[in-house]
Amino acid sequence: MSSKANPGGLAFFALLIIWLVQRLIAIASSPFYGFLGESTGERIKRRLPLTTALDKGGGSEVTKVLPQIEVDIVLIKKEILEAIIQHAREDVPLECCGLLMGQGNLISHLRRMKNALQSPISYSMEPRALLRFFKELRSLQLIHLGIYHSHPTSEAYPSSVDVEQAYYPDCTYFIASLRSPSVRAFSILDRTVQEKEIQVID
Ligand SMILES: [Zn+2]
Repeated sequence: MSSKANPGGLAFFALLIIWLVQRLIAIASSPFYGFLGESTGERIKRRLPLTTALDKGGGSEVTKVLPQIEVDIVLIKKEILEAIIQHAREDVPLECCGLLMGQGNLISHLRRMKNALQSPISYSMEPRALLRFFKELRSLQLIHLGIYHSHPTSEAYPSSVDVEQAYYPDCTYFIASLRSPSVRAFSILDRTVQEKEIQVID
């Protein structure tokens, strides 16, 4: 076998190297892979309009423009929250339940309801008692804002039955747990549970 250099082969090899270098330069300066000056400059410019918008109106305005995570807040009078806990304690070992009303989004009134199931793991309200409640609601000109019940032995989180039977999408569902004493509030809409922040009003 001959080991002599083949001039044609060398020329082909040199062309291949040149082509590869050209490809590398093209890739490096393309917008997608860009890490050479020109394309980096382009990307910074695209961000500029946002920065300009944030700077308008002075630094204090910036937070109003920035996206924020929305957390639903429920307002409840202190005595009402305490009455929920009191009711939960009195009815141990059974689950207690009741209805909450108020104005705007402030819960200011509570009505204890009888747990028709008399059960430690579930609750139900009698239809006639519900009718009486809605009559009273109208006469007081208040809004039905919430429903509460207790979990004597489990966490303050809606059970699968609670989610299934959440018939009032506009209401806040309060659950008082006696296992690790706490009260938490939730909205339950289309079987989706979302916790609300409880803000207690004196
Ligand atoms: Zn429950």
